[in-house]
Amino acid sequence: MATQTADVIVIGGGVAGLSTAMQLAKRGTRVIVLERERLGNGSTGRAAGLLGQLRGTPESTRMLVDGVEIVKELEQRADVDIFVQTGSLRVAETPERAQEIVDLVAMGKSIDFDIDHLSIEEVASKLPYMKTDDLIDACYCPTDGHLQPAELVSAYVKIGKTHGVEFRQNCPVESVIIEAGKAKGVQTSDGTVYAPTIVNAAGPWSYLVAELAETILPTAAVGHYYLTTRPNESHPVDRLSPAVRNRHHRIYTRAESGGLIVGIYGEETAEYDMEKLPADFDMSAMKARLDDIHVATLIYAAQQRFPWINERTPMSITTGIMTFTPDGKPLCGKLPDIEGLYYCSGFCGHGIVQSPTIGLMMADLIVDGQTNYDIKAIEADRYFDVPGFQERAEIKGKCYQMHAGYYGRVESKVTVHGAEKGKATDKHG
Ligand SMILES: Cc1cc2nc3c(=O)[nH]c(=O)nc-3n(C[C@H](O)[C@H](O)[C@H](O)COP(=O)(O)OP(=O)(O)OC[C@H]3O[C@@H](n4cnc5c(N)ncnc54)[C@H](O)[C@@H]3O)c2cc1C
Repeated sequence: MATQTADVIVIGGGVAGLSTAMQLAKRGTRVIVLERERLGNGSTGRAAGLLGQLRGTPESTRMLVDGVEIVKELEQRADVDIFVQTGSLRVAETPERAQEIVDLVAMGKSIDFDIDHLSIEEVASKLPYMKTDDLIDACYCPTDGHLQPAELVSAYVKIGKTHGVEFRQNCPVESVIIEAGKAKGVQTSDGTVYAPTIVNAAGPWSYLVAELAETILPTAAVGHYYLTTRPNESHPVDRLSPAVRNRHHRIYTRAESGGLIVGIYGEETAEYDMEKLPADFDMSAMKARLDDIHVATLIYAAQQRFPWINERTPMSITTGIMTFTPDGKPLCGKLPDIEGLYYCSGFCGHGIVQSPTIGLMMADLIVDGQTNYDIKAIEADRYFDVPGFQERAEIKGKCYQMHAGYYGRVESKVTVHGAEKGKATDKHG
């Protein structure tokens, strides 16, 4: 590649970078996406895609509800099926978890979101393959479901191309050119690209890309695991069975090809240092062994809700690496120290479903300098110069702590219409 110029360089061809690139190009911006390996082959290629729209605040719920509308447009334009609307359930077996459901339903109703309590008999009839005799409450959102990551990637790329996005694969960014406090471009294994705006959307590697610009991004890389059972005649799983979130056992589930996906946000964090992985590391080749402690914990937790699942059940295990932040929310926008450098990272296990609106919001920020979305909670500069968030070791510790409590912590109080009703939370995914 000879020396090249663009209006915006996007580093990373996962859903965050691809959505941002597509939205920028739709507004007439000349964009180049630089991907170290293959498009969609980082965290994006490993995701289960669960979409639960109701979050802990009306603002973050709106982002996900709008995201579904964007996806419907993408489906039409790219002629692919991305969204599978199965509905979703949350189930509770303890009074604390039941209170979370009460709060969530109240919050949903206050913003006219379609959610209600569901009797345990109805839960059992919707999910005959799930143990329900210990449940004390449940709620149901009929408009939830999951996004198919590969199809989402293909739509972003297809539509991006029609608007002129240029994609470079097998093209790792090796250094970021900063002059007089301004972003100027990047050096890749294949030449230099100059642009006044650079977006760091490098997923789990984004803290390393930030270091290339001598800045600090408070993210850490965390391993994640889910199992997928093969179709089982005794426990058939309809393709439109609702997804389930069972925070007591720290698991989520959805139907997949006649079997069941069960994933876990466990207490034990699988820690990764991206700088220690080989330069040609391919996330799609990651494998997990059945005797891995994380897999054993996953199978045990799955068995608590689905007693027919055990180590001998025919299944595959998927593992990959996701990006966590100290407060469980992404880091999107600018830091004050380098003009033209933007961050779009730290999606904490929800990047697939957040990407449609995040891309729009990033394009708003880059093109117009502002957005109609309330992004206070996810602004990239919220840890800028904050003591305790400047060294890798302390950042890692805080991100891992957030991960360990992600599903485990009891979220008993919810923000309603921005007015705090007890402690605010945004982790209802
Ligand atoms: C097992 C698993 C299950 C998940 N399940 C869900 C789910 O159910 N729902 C959900 O919403 N999310 C889920 N996620 C999370 C989701 O996959 C991520 O949040 C999302 O894919 C993040 O997208 P991204 O673009 O930020 O990162 P990535 O997809 O990792 O993309 C970043 C890209 O940057 C590239 N890159 C890195 N460094 C450089 C460089 N120097 N130069 C050029 N390119 C570079 C990488 O190769 C990579 O392709 C899951 C993740 C995992 C691992």
